[in-house]
Amino acid sequence: MGYMMPPRPTILVVEDEAAIAETIVYALQTEGFVPVWKTTGRDALAAMAEHPVALVVLDVGLPDMSGFDVCRELQRTSRVPVIFLTARSGEVDKIVGLELGADDYVAKPFSPRELTARVRAVLRRSREEVPLAAVVPSVVAPPVGIWQHDPGRCRISYRGRTLDLTRNEYRLLSALIASPGQVFNRDQLMTAAWEDPGAALDRTVDAHIKTLRAKLREAAPENDPITTHRGLGYSLREEA
Ligand code: CA
Repeated sequence: MGYMMPPRPTILVVEDEAAIAETIVYALQTEGFVPVWKTTGRDALAAMAEHPVALVVLDVGLPDMSGFDVCRELQRTSRVPVIFLTARSGEVDKIVGLELGADDYVAKPFSPRELTARVRAVLRRSREEVPLAAVVPSVVAPPVGIWQHDPGRCRISYRGRTLDLTRNEYRLLSALIASPGQVFNRDQLMTAAWEDPGAALDRTVDAHIKTLRAKLREAAPENDPITTHRGLGYSLREEA
């Protein structure tokens, strides 16, 4: 028999503590998802390679490798959304600072209901990602050649260089280049790039702007096309 896409989204749960994993698995099943539970990073990566997964719930502290490394490895080959499970507040800072492209995190201890709500929100966002990109059609009219936006491929090129962007960086930059010169405050950028801004990380806009700038600098060191407006927000330089 050939493989058929399961009608219900498969959620990969990567957690080495059985009690926590069982709670998550049960909650996901109750909510109509198909959970697949793995206890190590290696098993999780193997499972990802075997069948399509709609989302990964990823513990930071795993026995064989860190959840951060698992996430990096995953993102080399897929854009699967990731929700981290964290045990310490220091881990949250890392998620924000490391430019891992995580979609959300849940701090232990958490309620199963909270986790499944985040899972639904992230899945909704990732489903809406393509329509959102399509809303910003071929943007970038004014300075032709500087920005090239291919919404179908979720790809943006800057001065001829294709940028290697995480999902949220891509969505932020899409919003900025759709309206050069417009000053966006953080709430507006959150709303543009995160479907469920209430669940997003604090400081996350700043963190993503920072990583975006670094990538733009890499593409064209002499330019800084994003302007910071202290106390207000960010804009894209019109002539950039
Ligand atoms: Ca653990």
